[in-house]
Amino acid sequence: ESITIQELANRMAEKGADLVKALFKMGTPVTINEVIDQDTAELLVEEFGHRIQRVSDSDVELGIEGDDDAPETLKSRAPVVTIMGHVDHGKTSLLDALRGTNVVSGESGGITQHIGAYQVKTKNGDVITFLDTPGHEAFSEMRARGANVTDIVILVVAADDGLMPQTIEAINHTKAAGVPMIVAINKIDKPEANAQKVRERLLSEEVVVEDMGGDVQDVQVSALKRTGLDELIEKVLLQAELLELGANPDRPAEGNVIEAKLDKGRGPVATVLVRKGTLKVGDTFVVGAESGKVRAMVNDKGQNVKVAGPSTPVEVLGLSGVPMAGDQLSVVENEARAREVAAYRAEQKTRKRTTSAPTSFEHMFSALNTTVIEYPVVVKGDVQGSVEAIVTALTRASTDEIKVRVLHSGVGAITESDVTLAAASRAPLIGFNVRPNAKARALAERDKVSLRYYDVIYDLIEEVKNEMAGQLAPER
Ligand code: GDP
Repeated sequence: ESITIQELANRMAEKGADLVKALFKMGTPVTINEVIDQDTAELLVEEFGHRIQRVSDSDVELGIEGDDDAPETLKSRAPVVTIMGHVDHGKTSLLDALRGTNVVSGESGGITQHIGAYQVKTKNGDVITFLDTPGHEAFSEMRARGANVTDIVILVVAADDGLMPQTIEAINHTKAAGVPMIVAINKIDKPEANAQKVRERLLSEEVVVEDMGGDVQDVQVSALKRTGLDELIEKVLLQAELLELGANPDRPAEGNVIEAKLDKGRGPVATVLVRKGTLKVGDTFVVGAESGKVRAMVNDKGQNVKVAGPSTPVEVLGLSGVPMAGDQLSVVENEARAREVAAYRAEQKTRKRTTSAPTSFEHMFSALNTTVIEYPVVVKGDVQGSVEAIVTALTRASTDEIKVRVLHSGVGAITESDVTLAAASRAPLIGFNVRPNAKARALAERDKVSLRYYDVIYDLIEEVKNEMAGQLAPER
């Protein structure tokens, strides 16, 4: 488990810069978007006077996860990138165009296979992994399942259309996850394209690009004409360098399911993104509540491979059943152990349906009796005026001990996007004179998201205040 400084700062309701300073004093110079391990996170939390209660996660209990790799074992790994943005702004086109930049795609056997993720190799030999499912829903759904696999988000904004509702949703989902963002201003070939207007509009969403004096990189591209792609790739690599992404390749593999299906000829097949270690043919593993033995692996070029290292997506054959996207794969020593762990996880899963157990990091911070804690919330309302009034009142309800953090607010019915965001951050979802659509309601039920409806602002604020006070009260 790992967390970025920014995300940790958000959870602690401290300034990211202060955390960076503290780490610098401890002799660890880092940047704000850098990922730190749980021990460093705990050190920081203690340093800032928050008390810690580490709650062991089922997999740690089982002893198959949580053994952190020593820093000297880490080797640099490819960044994992997700593309987000409003519908029709060119996410799919950009994914296809970027796939085309691969210098090795023309090699023998190099027939493109859609396995849910693909890798691009640049002229300098650098590799980038792109997740094939664009959009913030998939991103937050994975996050809600404890799989924070994305290192960098590319936010696509069409220069002829500007910031649209889903652009803003994507920004808020990315921020809530604490993942750094690169803005790709697309459709720059169109005569009516206005990149400067996009940069200016981004300011009001607190996304400040370099031209505007901020530190978010932006690139003008045309997915159609394939221009600006090299520059975009360069910026992704630069951002990756800042993140200093590393993993130990010489250990039993751990990874996450990107997608899975039942194939008529091949049986259950899952695309796994390896996160650490090296997955090998013949390895015994558990994945979610399933187990198996790697019979064969196929990469994104349709080639059979014997090994897959960190940040590599591969189709894995040899599963006992079909796992779910986001499920974790862990290699274990033998089949008996695999069955034991799979059975334990299956049992945990049934229990989770009734209790909704958070992931280990969430656990650690929600269970921690901090002096300042955070109350995240998502707000939807029927008109702009009331949404603004609610956000202002909620922000004012913050005290020295507990701070309200509005992850997202907007006008309109409660959507699936709102629900996945709330689920990923374990935040309540407030509807003011609005209700969820059918799909969003089903999703909220499945993910145990707390939906609250109001028609009087005063009631809403009072209830939130009461709940905040309740969270401050000692639990044990
Ligand atoms: P998505 O919904 O975000 O995945 O968007 P698509 O990739 O499906 O693109 C939507 C439409 O915009 C398609 O008709 C594309 O051909 C078009 N499009 C995408 N990128 C560009 C671009 O750079 N320039 C122009 N002129 N059109 C583009």
